[in-house]
Amino acid sequence: MSSKTPKGEKLYEGKAKVLYQGTEPGTIIQYFKDDATAFNAQKRGTIAGKGIINNKVTELVMNNLEMIGIPTHFIERLSDREQLIREVEIIPLEVIVRNTVAGTMAKRLGLDEGIRLDRPLIEFSLKDDALGDPLIAEEHILSLDIADEEELSEIFDMTHQINNFLRGMFAGIGIELIDFKLEYGRLYDEEDTGYTIILADEFSPDNCRLWDMKTGEKMDKDRFRRDLGGEVEAYQEVARRLGISLEAEDGRKQ
Ligand code: 5GP
Repeated sequence: MSSKTPKGEKLYEGKAKVLYQGTEPGTIIQYFKDDATAFNAQKRGTIAGKGIINNKVTELVMNNLEMIGIPTHFIERLSDREQLIREVEIIPLEVIVRNTVAGTMAKRLGLDEGIRLDRPLIEFSLKDDALGDPLIAEEHILSLDIADEEELSEIFDMTHQINNFLRGMFAGIGIELIDFKLEYGRLYDEEDTGYTIILADEFSPDNCRLWDMKTGEKMDKDRFRRDLGGEVEAYQEVARRLGISLEAEDGRKQ
């Protein structure tokens, strides 16, 4: 994992990312790996170049969301695989948005994948690997004090805005945004007197489903999860359509 970016101690190593303390207080460096896991890490592998693509797709999405007024933890991209982010207290929820039935929703409810929902659905899972990220209701979130009513209402508002924007952004490049997962965090102000809820984590083909509008072809991590093959090319195609350059700083193609 060679990188010339100065950074502090390693804080956390997850399945697809490593977090290091940033050099400025309140900052973290997020490093994107090529490692891929599925089914709660029962399936493991790598997708060559995925870390670079996910870093750059996340940069583009976070910058675009900032432009429409969504506060995010993103500060700047530092290198091919690293970005500087603000340190937040992660709210331990996976906020899942579904525009079309797929994945665990299809399985759980015995529905065919591909059924368009009349209105987008927001689901919550508890972020807990040991429990397999169980689906929970809003009532669980409130009763267990994972977030309060005001926070939940902000999360709903921001999530709908993000979905509306991203559906349009992907439709513009011939891709249907089927579903995705978001995470939010609390950013405390310097005096520690208050905080704002901001978007955290990443947005990349690792945490969304993207189907080609013409062919229906899957262009996301389901290619890896379901052994469909062609995951490297699919991630590259998403980057290409988004206008993201995959040239290395020294001009090498990666
Ligand atoms: P499903 O619940 O159908 O497995 O996933 C719904 C959407 O959320 C998919 O786009 C999937 O990629 C994303 N998602 C759900 N759980 C996780 C997770 O633990 N990690 C990541 N990276 N994405 C997730």
